[in-house]
Amino acid sequence: MEDKNYNPFETAQKQFDRAADLLDLNHGTRDLLRNPMREYHFNIPVKMDDGTVKVFRGFRVQHNDARGPAKGGIRFHPMETIDTVRALSMWMTWKTSVADIPLGGGKGGVICDPHHLSKNEQEQICRGWVRQVVKNVGPFSDVPAPDVMTNPQHMLWMLDEYEAIRGEKFPGFITGKPVGMGGSKGRTEATGYGVIITVREALKELKIKPEETLASIQGFGNVAKYAIELYNKMGGKVICVSCWDQADKASYSFRKKEGINLKELIAITDAFGGIDKTKARDLGYEVLPGDAWLEQEVDILIPAALENQIKGDNVNKISKRVKIIAEGANGPTTQEADVVINQKNIHVIPDFLANAGGVVCSYFEQVQCNMNYFWEKDEVLGKLDVKMTTAYLAVSDFAKSNKIKMRDAAYVIAVNRVAQACHDRGWV
Ligand code: NAD
Repeated sequence: MEDKNYNPFETAQKQFDRAADLLDLNHGTRDLLRNPMREYHFNIPVKMDDGTVKVFRGFRVQHNDARGPAKGGIRFHPMETIDTVRALSMWMTWKTSVADIPLGGGKGGVICDPHHLSKNEQEQICRGWVRQVVKNVGPFSDVPAPDVMTNPQHMLWMLDEYEAIRGEKFPGFITGKPVGMGGSKGRTEATGYGVIITVREALKELKIKPEETLASIQGFGNVAKYAIELYNKMGGKVICVSCWDQADKASYSFRKKEGINLKELIAITDAFGGIDKTKARDLGYEVLPGDAWLEQEVDILIPAALENQIKGDNVNKISKRVKIIAEGANGPTTQEADVVINQKNIHVIPDFLANAGGVVCSYFEQVQCNMNYFWEKDEVLGKLDVKMTTAYLAVSDFAKSNKIKMRDAAYVIAVNRVAQACHDRGWV
């Protein structure tokens, strides 16, 4: 999202350059992978409920599809920028690669604020988005999914529009659909659970028992809630979460030192992951400034809100107790902050590895849709565990044997697979 001092695409490119140097990639391969292969920019005219017409700006970026159809979510956000979408599409390429699923990377977005749009207006944006890119997306070319402020209902409207235009059924066109309408069981849980599967493996390596750990989390949306659910099941205790307050246009942290109660907090949270401050105080939570989640005396930090959250100006607030940072969000840590985190010797599980559970399960959804045969939740979550554990161990083993950090190891593995695919196809 827009921040005049931060360009996520420049960050993504710098991260790529570092991996390209480590791999000693040739000029042509670098040039290809440093930029998206294709971009679509379009206008979506919508007849608003008050009778006026408003035009929304939409995007779809396909970073790379050498390993399979592009795959990635669609965000609705008032501060969306093309460079954010470019960065996210590049990160999707590395994510599908590090998870070793046969897909590439893409991302989409619409500059809009669903907080101020009726259901009807949101439906029109969804249908309009599909009408603009129908020729350029599809189950065998580019498969969208939900992301920030988009949900299964949005995906179903998009699928319906796509099928209406194409005149056939294509349940594998889009993932994150409602269960019973082509959605996969376990998809809702998959990203948050995937984050904690990687945390579980990291704790094993560090020889720390989960039940002896505390965590603090930024965000209280889809990723954060299910991460907390599985972490609690493992015996861990979350003492602080933070979220965005739409009315105050500010973020707050909610702390309960004896451990937050997931169910009671969910009961006072709106559809956008915003927690009611007054009700939280009544339930005994301390309401603290937005950054407070980062300063807690915990073993594990999980940024699970937005990009660009752990930065040069707040990274030194991280407590000495922190041993693991599992990046649930995409791009939450700036390069400047990363240097400090490495000096502190914190074990970082980088974003495109930690949060790959969502796309792994989206891939399962696509497979199930294409077969028209749906698995039970246990089967989905079991397969998710295998994929996430395998991906984590591959990165961790590579990091150890090459004496490099987890982020570099994940990048080298992911970029190398994509570069190899481009090379094998004869592109570079
Ligand atoms: P969501 O919209 O469900 O929740 C976002 C949460 O972050 C909300 O609680 C919101 O209040 C909070 N938030 C927003 N701005 C904040 C701020 N400045 N400070 C503190 N909290 C803030 O989104 P989500 O699906 O949980 O996604 C969260 C992150 O994870 C994003 O970076 C997204 O790209 C990434 N991600 C999501 C998935 C998925 O499957 N949902 C998969 C991979 C990555």
